[in-house]
Amino acid sequence: MKTSDYDSFVQKCAEEQELIQAKFHSDYNINNYENWFYNQATGLLTFSTGNDQINFSYIQIGTFSENTKTWKWSWDNDHTLDNVKDQANVIREFGETSHFPKLTNGYFSSDEYEAWEFTAIALKLTNGIGVYRPVADHLKIFMVIIGLVDNETAENIKSKYVECEEHEYRRRAFVCRHLNHVDKVGFEEAFETFEGMELSLDEDDDFMAWCNECEKVRQQEGEWNKTSMEFADIKLVCEKCYFEMKELNLGT
Ligand SMILES: [Zn+2]
Ligand SMILES: [Zn+2]
Repeated sequence: MKTSDYDSFVQKCAEEQELIQAKFHSDYNINNYENWFYNQATGLLTFSTGNDQINFSYIQIGTFSENTKTWKWSWDNDHTLDNVKDQANVIREFGETSHFPKLTNGYFSSDEYEAWEFTAIALKLTNGIGVYRPVADHLKIFMVIIGLVDNETAENIKSKYVECEEHEYRRRAFVCRHLNHVDKVGFEEAFETFEGMELSLDEDDDFMAWCNECEKVRQQEGEWNKTSMEFADIKLVCEKCYFEMKELNLGT
């Protein structure tokens, strides 16, 4: 590998980033919004003022620590959810093919200037429409913005998530009132599930489970109707709770 190959590639990416970012700002005026909020679970970056909001899908590229002066690629970071880092693998793969070690080492000493260079490379390789860098304590978080998400779709995505006291922000799931974290009461499901599986956003594909007693009532009634639904009295839980209950009831 010649260093100059990497340097000229970075230079090109940085120039492109400047143009793309200028267009991003003129297209969406994100600096005019008062608030910003991002969520790894939904993969949405939201800017808002009052009820006025704009949503984007994003990828987390990596983080620069002001404390340790280190860079960590998101694909090397266990705290980053797959949802926002899967696409960052193309950067590492490109680094392997091109023999650019800075793109294949997960964690090393660096500076913020270089962090922006990495983000420029990521922007190019992921065909993003802009970049964003929020700060959380001593961490500077580098993101590539992938695309605009219309408000209705964004609300639909957000509605599929729930805040759990135990597990924070997770996908929603539904269980009958009898299912719990302590007693085995049986576990019947609407469809075969596994944790982290993809669910269709458009259809009402939700994790849904009920106990043996509820299954008896459902069979007596022949379907989910007023009687069986009232008996089950379905409640909202998070995905993690759902699979903990499944493990409790069906685990070996
Ligand atoms: Zn039940
Ligand atoms: Zn939970």
